Amino acid sequence: MTEPNRRPFIICQDLFKIYKRADLEVVALRGIDLVVQQGEFLAIIGASGSGKSTLLNILAGLDRPSAGRVWVGRRDLLAMTEADRIAYRRKEVGFLWQSAGRNLLPYLTAQEQVELPMALAGIGPFSRRKRARELLEMVGLGDKARRLPHQLSGGEQQRVAIAVAMANNPPLLLADEPTGELDTRTAEEVFRALKEVNRNYGTTIVLVTHYPGAGRWADRVVRIRDGRIASERLQLPSFRADEQAREEEFLVVDQVGRVQLPLEVVKGLGLTGRTRLIVQEGRAVIAPAQEEGHAR
Ligand code: ADP
Ligand code: MG
Repeated sequence: MTEPNRRPFIICQDLFKIYKRADLEVVALRGIDLVVQQGEFLAIIGASGSGKSTLLNILAGLDRPSAGRVWVGRRDLLAMTEADRIAYRRKEVGFLWQSAGRNLLPYLTAQEQVELPMALAGIGPFSRRKRARELLEMVGLGDKARRLPHQLSGGEQQRVAIAVAMANNPPLLLADEPTGELDTRTAEEVFRALKEVNRNYGTTIVLVTHYPGAGRWADRVVRIRDGRIASERLQLPSFRADEQAREEEFLVVDQVGRVQLPLEVVKGLGLTGRTRLIVQEGRAVIAPAQEEGHAR
């Protein structure tokens, strides 16, 4: 898209999401501040459990934040009525899931998949046929319009899903690890299709990804760590493999200041019975209760 008329399209201010599960509170988002420009293609990276899907679901109107503010276009997502929310989800956001199976219906051809949301929106057969063709061309599948999902590769299915998500021309396209199940070459094709959509329609795209090549396609890559935006970078060629490895640490301090660790980590510590937290040379150490004396 052309640079001059860029303006903020998404604004997140101090966004919090707290999930309550039994006696445990999981703080999935802890003060997200993020601005996405109109027509920007933004990639979000971060370790599993860092809050990426939570953020995307809030932007999609599928979930509500616990605190903070969030605007998409002119809409205040917290102030929406239920009717607004339904209209928003139908017309103003396209969503692409990781699994192609979740994006497509098994018994419809590519052409029919793309036409369906238009038919539901009341668009006539001639217009929707034309637009479906145009969208399938754009994602590089003009010649496969008559195929059923099982006659397409995983990457091709995801490209059909992009065309479906764009059927009613939403200004925002959200994608949660859309290439998570694909190999590198196929992932590149999906990114190319997303870039085409972004360029041709000026669609704002927010995508969660683990794909290291994402930085070549996105305008900007931001990292989310423990429910916060950890770093923002512009035009990153590709994020580094060692940084990805470091992402795997995971630590949550909940609202009342308790540290929460994933169960695998706790099991890996080989702790049995009661556990104590000891402060040793300025570091917090978790140890079995009986070792407390030695540690001091
Ligand atoms: P990511 O997409 O980065 O892997 P998520 O947004 O799915 O992370 O999850 C962030 C945190 O919130 C994780 O600790 C996860 O277990 C927790 N979480 C996500 N959804 C729920 C839910 N519905 N109920 C309780 N906890 C949840
Ligand atoms: Mg996720």
